[in-house]
Amino acid sequence: MAKYVGPACKLCRAEGIKLFLKGTRCFTPKCGFERRPNNPGMHGRQRQKPTEYGTQLREKQKIRRIYGVLERQFRIYFARAARAKGVTGEILMSLLEARLDNVVHRAGFAPSRKMARQLVNHGLVAINGKRVSIPSCQVRMGDIVTPYNEKGRTKIGAEVQVNEAYVPPEWIAVDKPTLAATIARMPLRADVNLPINESLVVELYSK
Ligand code: SF4
Repeated sequence: MAKYVGPACKLCRAEGIKLFLKGTRCFTPKCGFERRPNNPGMHGRQRQKPTEYGTQLREKQKIRRIYGVLERQFRIYFARAARAKGVTGEILMSLLEARLDNVVHRAGFAPSRKMARQLVNHGLVAINGKRVSIPSCQVRMGDIVTPYNEKGRTKIGAEVQVNEAYVPPEWIAVDKPTLAATIARMPLRADVNLPINESLVVELYSK
């Protein structure tokens, strides 16, 4: 699946908030947004009052960029959420949270979703003992996410050690000594601790 390969910090500057796309760097003074919080580009300092459409569009872009999903795939998620029973926006967020790369990041196995995606792409992660190299793979309740091989164990083990104080969300039970993350239940909207308003995306796509 295709992915965005441009500069991550530009995305934060375009959205006007920190999206935490670069792991530990995001918490240091080197953060691109801290240094230049204006829009990227020649006219970056001129922020215009956004229109209703502009606000909805920015919210959609923000969510896409946080989860590293391109437009086409995001549309597929939205269509799935719209077909399902329940509140479309909430289901959309649950689907995005249940992506394997997000689970690897939220379990504390990688400092950012981008790095989690790389671990998965390189075949270093397994679900229920089986190697899975598709970052968009949806986890299910009861699944156990672990490193696949020694290389995975070394990389994930190092990350867990560095971030010893990290507390994973309630829906992922992490056993640090064995590096096993069990999906205790499926993620809900309330589990998403991001400054986003998914109802604006529903409004945008309902036009
Ligand atoms: Fe965004 Fe992180 Fe870059 Fe800061 S360092 S601008 S939070 S990606």
